[in-house]
Amino acid sequence: RAGDAPLLAVDGVSKSFSGLRAVDGVSFTVTPGEIIGIIGPNGSGKTTLLNTLSGALRPSSGTIRLGGIVLNGMRAHQIARLGLARTFQLVRVMPDLTVAENVAAARLFSTTNGSGATASELLDLVGLGKLQEAPASELTYIDQKRLELARALALQPRLVLLDEWLAGLNPSELETGIALIAKLRDRGLTIIMVEHVMDAIRALCSHCIVMNAGSVIARGAPEAVLSDPKVVAAYLGG
Ligand code: ADP
Repeated sequence: RAGDAPLLAVDGVSKSFSGLRAVDGVSFTVTPGEIIGIIGPNGSGKTTLLNTLSGALRPSSGTIRLGGIVLNGMRAHQIARLGLARTFQLVRVMPDLTVAENVAAARLFSTTNGSGATASELLDLVGLGKLQEAPASELTYIDQKRLELARALALQPRLVLLDEWLAGLNPSELETGIALIAKLRDRGLTIIMVEHVMDAIRALCSHCIVMNAGSVIARGAPEAVLSDPKVVAAYLGG
């Protein structure tokens, strides 16, 4: 896929909070159909970077393009309409609605309502087909995670940002979660995942970037990056 035009192009993006450069000159591209991983220690700027991509925060400098369109200055809902969806570190489903209603509510924000997968198909895809009428408040933790994913997919996104989507799962749920993301990849979805689960990075990502103190300190195929002495020293522990 090396010849494909990038779906996302991040060029020299920085974000400062009153003097602190939380994200410092980050550049990378994402090709359609690939999963890239963003890893690094706590406080290295991963969430801030995702927030600048999704429009929750405005970058202090640099350029972000989705399908060639410059996102800088756009609001989060405009960026979502252009096809960028995200999940959050803390699950944000609406507890008083049923599972199906949660997906229907998310679909209201889709530009292309009517076409694409139905809510029911999306729920089947994430493994919630049998729980469509259940109140979201009664879902187990992993099922809430599945629902959050279905809500992101309901936007018919071109790119999905997963913010530690696998966090808090037990080992067998983790295997299920990784298989689900692999299924989405095999259907052609393009994903950026911030993740601390290195088995998931190895299993899913075509390449990853490693952040430390706001900057990218390593990038490349997971196997190479995770054995890079700089990465081991900064993140994995020596
Ligand atoms: P990570 O997601 O890698 O744990 P964050 O992006 O959350 O890192 O944080 C990067 C740095 O920016 C940290 O030093 C954090 O304290 C700081 N930071 C994050 N958000 C804010 C904010 N809204 N105001 C001030 N500082 C912030």
